Amino acid sequence: MRKPTTKKQFEYFRSCCEKAAKRYGLSNWVINYRHSNLKEEGYIADTEWNSTSMEAYIRLNKGVDEEELVDNELLKEAAIHEVRHILLGQINDLLENYYADEFIDPIIHDLIQRLENANRYIK
Ligand SMILES: [Zn+2]
Repeated sequence: MRKPTTKKQFEYFRSCCEKAAKRYGLSNWVINYRHSNLKEEGYIADTEWNSTSMEAYIRLNKGVDEEELVDNELLKEAAIHEVRHILLGQINDLLENYYADEFIDPIIHDLIQRLENANRYIK
């Protein structure tokens, strides 16, 4: 079963994305936001980007698993995660010239995890 995310949650998610993008200095990107039903039901959010046109779409899933606790903490973490995909977007795309997606995804998520760990321990 799925439950909806609210417009208010989307607005909070979006504001977190905007703050994270500013913090990472991603002003050279045009970042668009959507509140839509994602094909991948298990995901709270996803991001598509084009590192040639420097344009990205961050989407918050309109429907999430019923058991998923969608609080501000989760929305903030998801927002920062998605913005980090844009931060690493160009490297991701370069890697795509040489490797299959299944090899790139773990590398990118490892980097995202390391950024998160560093944030957690540096006060
Ligand atoms: Zn990810």
